Parts: sequence; C-alpha cells; structure tokens
Amino acid sequence: MTSLEIVQAGDPVLRAVAVPVVDEEIVSAEFHDFVEAMIATMRAAPGVGLAAPQVGVSKRVLVAEDRDSAIAALPASRIADMERVPFGPLVMINPEMRPASEERRVFFEGCLSVAGFAALVARYREIEVRWTDETGVHHGWTRFSGWPARILQHEIDHLDGVLYTDRMIARSFMTAEAMRARAAMPVADILREAGITERT
Ligand SMILES: [Zn+2]
Repeated sequence: MTSLEIVQAGDPVLRAVAVPVVDEEIVSAEFHDFVEAMIATMRAAPGVGLAAPQVGVSKRVLVAEDRDSAIAALPASRIADMERVPFGPLVMINPEMRPASEERRVFFEGCLSVAGFAALVARYREIEVRWTDETGVHHGWTRFSGWPARILQHEIDHLDGVLYTDRMIARSFMTAEAMRARAAMPVADILREAGITERT
C-alpha cells in the first residue's frame, strides 16, 4: 500500500471544516481503499492518528492507533502519566465528541502536519465519541480516556480546521528533539522551565 502525501501547516485544507461522508460512500470500494491508505500512511509516518484533511481530503474521516512498539519506547513513568494503552486501528467517520468530565490533563503533542515540533496542550481526560465505522456501523456514545482520548480530540479538531498550535500552551512550543530530551521530565518541571507558574 503506497503512502499518501501528508500536507503541512499553511495548506488551506488544514483550515477548512471537513465535509461529512454519506453512508452510500462508506461502503464503496474507493472509500475502502482510501481508508486502507490512511492507515498505511499513519503507520509509515509513524503516527498515532491521521485525519483525512492531513492527506488533502476535506472529509470527516480519521484513523487512530497506538501500538505496543511505540509505547515501549517511552519511560515507564511517562507511560503511566500519559495513561497510554494500545488500541486500534480505529476508523471513525463523521465522529462527534463531548467531554465526559471537566478534568483536563497537560501533555506534549505533535502533529504530522506540523513536522518537527511539539508543545504542551491541555485536553479533556475523558470524552465520549459517537461515529460510523468503515463498515457503515453506527457506534453510540462510547467513552475514551487517557491517551486515546487525547489522540481523538486532536484528530477530531483536524476535521474542524483546528491545529494543536491553536490550543497549545504557547510558551512550551519547542522542537521535537527538545521534547524527546524531556521524555522523563515531569510536566510540572517543563512548565516551570518555560516560565509558566499558574497551570494545572
Ligand atoms: Zn495532527
């Protein structure tokens, strides 16, 4: 499966509100191939999520997956803090999201469309999502928490033309390399280092 080209910040498709996919389209062979290509592209990047606008297609489709191999590369303390668990691949078409509580967590995020950078972003810890899957089955409000909830909030934002840089704690913006150097550093210390004292 060939990878699709991932567009970068500045491309207007990343700022457009993506269009819903109709049920008849979901069951088409062409759409099936597109979803397979999105999953292949996400894995090749590698990334834990990809939204259709990121490959230049303004439709409300996302794929998400977190694998053991990606998680195993992190310090154990970080995995626990992030509440990172293997899941997916999940394909969500026309997803809708609502917070399940007001609690938010602050962690680093990057984006395949803002290549080479990262920043701290506050996201809901628990959310509920309803969506249609790639076989056309409708899923009712389903709860996600921890890292999967963060991934889904990030990807659903893409469908509304929102990038994490719109929501980031601006002073924490740094290169991906600088983020990796802080892999074992408590988030509170990273905030302090960035000169942020009143947060979370
Ligand atoms: Zn992204």
